[in-house]
Amino acid sequence: MRERSDALTLDAGDPLAGHRGHFVLPDGIVYLDGNSLGALPAALPARLDAVIHEQWGRDLIRSWNRHDWIDLPVRVGEAAAALIGAGPGQVVAADSTSVNLFKLLAAALDARPGRTVILSVEDNFPTDLYMAQGLARLLGGEVRLRLVSEPALEGAMDEDTAVVMLSHVDFRTGRIRDMAALTAAAHRAGALALWDLAHSAGVLPVALDAAEVDLAVGCGYKYLCGGPGAPAFLYVARRLQDRIASPLSGWMGHVAPFAFDPAYRPAPGVSRFLCGTPAVLAMTALEVGVETISLAGIDRLRAKATALTEYFITLADERLRDHGFELASPRDPADRGAQVSLRHAEGLPIMAALVARDVIGDFREPDILRFGFAPLTTRFVDVWDAVEILVEIMETRAWDRPEHRRRPRVT
Ligand SMILES: *Cc1c(COP(=O)(O)O)cnc(C)c1O
Repeated sequence: MRERSDALTLDAGDPLAGHRGHFVLPDGIVYLDGNSLGALPAALPARLDAVIHEQWGRDLIRSWNRHDWIDLPVRVGEAAAALIGAGPGQVVAADSTSVNLFKLLAAALDARPGRTVILSVEDNFPTDLYMAQGLARLLGGEVRLRLVSEPALEGAMDEDTAVVMLSHVDFRTGRIRDMAALTAAAHRAGALALWDLAHSAGVLPVALDAAEVDLAVGCGYKYLCGGPGAPAFLYVARRLQDRIASPLSGWMGHVAPFAFDPAYRPAPGVSRFLCGTPAVLAMTALEVGVETISLAGIDRLRAKATALTEYFITLADERLRDHGFELASPRDPADRGAQVSLRHAEGLPIMAALVARDVIGDFREPDILRFGFAPLTTRFVDVWDAVEILVEIMETRAWDRPEHRRRPRVT
């Protein structure tokens, strides 16, 4: 049997161990949900405080120019771009992932006139599918969302396909899709490729430019640690930028917002995908999150996340096998993001019992216990303790209590 001291030895040799101090983490908590809400960067409260008191409070509206508030979407976008393999001038921070999906899907349909299908997979993240459904309804039935199973995906890309919309890392299983190969397949069919990076940005190398991706969106509050409900980001490949436009043609995407021209004319470049006034406080928080993550370097983040998920799977194989768990994530670390999902018929009460013991993961219907291993805030000893407590919960049947079967509003 392995020992807890092995985990402590791994932590002692971890080149990223010092980065944990860049975050606020309460004692006694094993936090394995940084894939849903990244931890609070330690530098964030002071930065927000300064923006509130020294900028908003003192300089008032002059801050838009004096403190470059107006540049926040581009500045934060460029910082995120460096993490996702995007050259300059292609990423802005704006709106939510859902809204950005809507803008880019509509633009993609516009860029492929005569093509009527948004193609995706059945198990894509619901909001991605819902946004496509809403757009199709708005377009009066001319466009439809076609959902296929994973194996049927490439075969379904045809002359009707305007855009293929996929998640880079599957939110349930953590499986990584082959971005370059699927993008190339979409292009062979004459379609555009739109990728959702919610579970890959900030935790594994993404190569948008090298893979010739057309469009992408990503989330600010997961691995980027931008805070609850942080602004999201979007990517438009440079070659497309001046040929497509946002359907949400707000003034921040206008070529000259302060000309107050009655006619909309899109700004050159990716800024045309901005809509309304940026949320300065939320953008500031996201900027700190991206800076904090970027200090570590994406290759080291990936290496540590892989080591953590490997360690968790090794311990789960050894110690959870007799308790009805089944690995839902790929065994090959090359195919796996920074999460490990276990299936169990009693997943909901088991996860509730874990959370009650301060081991925080989450549950995804119908039977998935999801553990995220954000590499800067998770130690190897956290992995050990999580498995130890999970074994205890199973052996004592602590999960089998009525209070653990209540469904909270947010899981
Ligand atoms: C988290 C997540 C979202 C979130 O979208 P919001 O608009 O921020 O609520 C979208 N897509 C995927 C794949 C996600 O994992």
